[in-house]
Amino acid sequence: TCGLVWFRRDLRTADHAALYHALSRCQRVVCTFIFDTDILDPLPRDDRRVPFIHACVVELDSALRESGGGLTVLRGDPVALIPALAAELGAQAVFTNRDYEPDAIARDHDVERALAAQSIAFLTFKDQVVFEKDELLTGQNRPYTVFTPYKRAWLTALTHETLAPYAVDAYRDALAPPPTLGARWFDTAGVLGRPAAHPDDTQRNDRAEGSSASVHAASDRPRVPGIPSLAELGFPDARPPDLPAGSSGASALLEDFRDRMADYDRTRDFPGIKGPSYLSIHLRFGTVSIRGLAREAHDAQRLGSAGAATWLSELIWRDFFFQILWHFPHVGARGAHRAFRPVYDAIQWESGPAADAHFAAWCEGRTGYPLVDAAMRQINASGYMHNRLRMVVASFLVKDLGLDWRRGEAYFEAKLNDFDLAANNGGWQWAASTGCDAQPYFRIFNPITQSERFDPRGAFIRHYIPEIARLSDRDIHAPWRAKPAALSEAGIALGRDYPMPIVDHDLARRRTLERFDVVKHTR
Ligand code: FAD
Repeated sequence: TCGLVWFRRDLRTADHAALYHALSRCQRVVCTFIFDTDILDPLPRDDRRVPFIHACVVELDSALRESGGGLTVLRGDPVALIPALAAELGAQAVFTNRDYEPDAIARDHDVERALAAQSIAFLTFKDQVVFEKDELLTGQNRPYTVFTPYKRAWLTALTHETLAPYAVDAYRDALAPPPTLGARWFDTAGVLGRPAAHPDDTQRNDRAEGSSASVHAASDRPRVPGIPSLAELGFPDARPPDLPAGSSGASALLEDFRDRMADYDRTRDFPGIKGPSYLSIHLRFGTVSIRGLAREAHDAQRLGSAGAATWLSELIWRDFFFQILWHFPHVGARGAHRAFRPVYDAIQWESGPAADAHFAAWCEGRTGYPLVDAAMRQINASGYMHNRLRMVVASFLVKDLGLDWRRGEAYFEAKLNDFDLAANNGGWQWAASTGCDAQPYFRIFNPITQSERFDPRGAFIRHYIPEIARLSDRDIHAPWRAKPAALSEAGIALGRDYPMPIVDHDLARRRTLERFDVVKHTR
C-alpha cells in the first residue's frame, strides 16, 4: 500500500498525527508540500512569512531525507495537484492534519471529492489543537462561548493519552524518497507545478503561468523534483523574520523560554521585558507540537508553577478560538465576516477622509500616543507585536478612533508573522467588544494609564521612538502634557519631531459610549 502525506501548517516530523497514521498503516509513504499559488499570489513580494515557510520546508525535507524519505514540493492549486500526485503514485489514501479555517475547509472538501472520484481515501487527523470541534461541549450540548468554563472543561477532559506524542520514529522505515516525475509535471523553469495531460495542455499551462520559455524546454526527461527557490516562487527579495525557523528554531526558542516559564505570570504583560515565548509563528506553521508544549506546561503546573499555569491558559485560549471559528464560521468568512454577536453589526463606524487619515496614522505609528505608536512600529519593523500591545492598539483603533475593527484585523493579517485567523479574529472581536466573552464595550483602555502601568520606565517606547527617548519616565507616556521646559530640554518640538495626539481620549471615550449605545436599543 502507498500513502501520500500532505503537509500544510504542520511542518515537522516529530509527534505528527497524519505522518504517524500513514507510516503505521502503509508500506510506502510519500510526503508532499504545496506552495499554494492562491495564497502566495496576492501577497506583497517582501512578505516575511514566505521565506520563513521556505526555510521550514527545507529543514523538513532534510529531516525526512535522513530517514530515507524527502519532500515532494509542488507549486500551484492543491485541488488539482493532490489528486494528480496521489494518482501518479498509485496511492490508496491521502493523509493530512485538519485545518479549521473556512477557506481551508472548502478547499479540503474539493480535494476529498476529486480523490473520491479516483477511489482514493482522504483521511484527516486532529493535530493542530489539543481539543477540537465539538469534543468539549456544555451540559446543554452547545459550544462554549465563555472562556472560563471552557478552560475548566478543557482541564477536566485532559488525560495522559490526550497529550501523548505520536511515535513517528517507530515507523520511519516506510518513508519513501520523492518520486521521479514525468516532464509534464515541470514548467519551463524546471519547477514542479500543475501536471499537463498532454503536450497541448502543457502549452496552455505554460501560457497560463506566464512563462516565456518554449514548451519544448520542459519536455525533456523525467526527474526528481527539487525545492523551488524563493526567486522561483516570486519572492526574490523577501527577508524572513528575525527568529530561528524550522523545528530546530522552535526547539531553540522553547529551550530559551523553559527557564522563563516560571516567571511568565509576572513578566508577560510588560513589553519591555523578555517575558513571552515568541513561539506563536512556530505554532502557526506547526514546527512544534501543541501537545508537547501543553504537556510541558501542564507538568510544570502540577508541580506548582504559577507561571506555567498562566502560560497553559494562553494555549487553552488558542484552542478556544479555534473551536469558536469552527462552530461560528461567520466570524471569519473571507470578505464577509461579521461580529460574533450580530447586534454589534449595527454599529456605525467612522468613515470618510478624516477616518482614513486616522487609520493611516495608526498604521504608521504616528497617533501621538507613544505606547500605541511604539507598538505599531514594532509590528511594522518585525512582524511581531507583544500581546498586551495588541490589546492596547486594537482598543485604540476601535474605541479612540471609532474605526471598524475589521480594518485593524486586516492590517494585522497583512503584517503579523504569526497571523492566524482564529486567534486574530478572536483578539480583535474581544477588544472591539463584538466577540464572545469579550471586553464589555464600556470598558475602554486608557492608552496613557496602560503605558504607565506596563511600560513604567518607557523602555519599550524609547526603543521604538528614539525621537522622544530623552523625555523623563513620567513625561514619556504623554509628551503633550510635559512642561515646555522639559520638552525643550529634551530637544523636542511637538508637531515637528513627534505628533500631537490625533484624538482626545476623554472625548473619544464619550463618543464611543454613544456609538455603542445602539447595541442596547437593538438588543
Ligand atoms: P506567549 O505569551 O508565549 O503565548 C504562548 C502561545 O499561546 C502563543 O504563541 C499563542 O499560540 C497562544 N496564545 C497566547 N495568547 C493567545 C490569545 N489571546 N489567543 C489565542 N492564542 C493565544 N495570536 C496568534 O497566534 N495569531 C494572531 O494572529 C493573533 N492576533 C491577535 C490579535 C489581537 C488583537 C490580540 C489581542 C491577540 C492576538 N493574538 C494572536 C494572541 C497573542 O497576542 C499572541 O498569540 C501572542 O502575543 C504571541 O506571542 P508569544 O508566542 O510570545 O505568546
